[in-house]
Amino acid sequence: MDRVSDEVEERPPWDSGGPAVLATLERMAQRGIDPELVSEIVTSVSRITAEALAGASGRAGVIGVMRSVVGLAGQVVRGARDDAERRRLPVAQTACSAGCAHCCALHVSVSPPEAIVLAAFLRDTLGAHELTSLIARVESLAARVVTMDHDARIAAKLDCALLVEGRCIAYPVRPLACAAANSLDAAACARGDEIPIEPLQLCAIRATQIGLAVASAARALDFERYELTNALAVTLRTPDAADRWLAGERLFRKTPGDPALGDATHAFVARDPHLVRVSVLR
Ligand code: SF4
Repeated sequence: MDRVSDEVEERPPWDSGGPAVLATLERMAQRGIDPELVSEIVTSVSRITAEALAGASGRAGVIGVMRSVVGLAGQVVRGARDDAERRRLPVAQTACSAGCAHCCALHVSVSPPEAIVLAAFLRDTLGAHELTSLIARVESLAARVVTMDHDARIAAKLDCALLVEGRCIAYPVRPLACAAANSLDAAACARGDEIPIEPLQLCAIRATQIGLAVASAARALDFERYELTNALAVTLRTPDAADRWLAGERLFRKTPGDPALGDATHAFVARDPHLVRVSVLR
């Protein structure tokens, strides 16, 4: 075993990434999220994503990557819930239900592969007339929100372009951020209070987002997250977006509400040099 691998294995997995990783995990711990579980998911998702990215090409390749990533996150949540039930620990019940869309007027950010999968799903499932009208809605909303930060977006109360009659028309491939917004109290969402999010789901999704970003960064792909409507506008009008993202192109532009992932993600990459080596060698 070489020296780099020894160094990685000597350290506890959640305690080896330097200040940016520790700050990220600390923020999660403050929200009731278990740092050890986060670290395990980040490592698993980043390895699985790196493997999937190694052979990926075109939109089918990107869809395959996201299927693996989302499938793993779902397995983690189900496994953790089953474990809690076996040990007779309290399991929080989500208050989310079909037709409840209080959180669908907030700033949502997506990674490039999520925006690519969303556009592919909409192109495959909508009729020509519905797609034309959706593209017009997306372009119009994108122009309105491109200068808004989180607070401006809350104040503007603008529904997501994918919300039709109170339901998400892309629910099976909704952004990870939307899947994470699992509320424990629908009344709090209706009042516009901060969403009291179910911690296990949030933990799995946050760690999944980081794992996806780590594997993308390790292959020199754009790993940042961008405002949903503007990112979707790009992928809807760019048929070869998947190939261009996989070739390392930067297709999206930041808006004021978008998170800055750079330091924490690069710190996670530095924490796991084996992953970088696997990704770069392929
Ligand atoms: S993508 Fe779907 S779930 Fe997410 S904000 Fe838009 S309508 Fe809501």
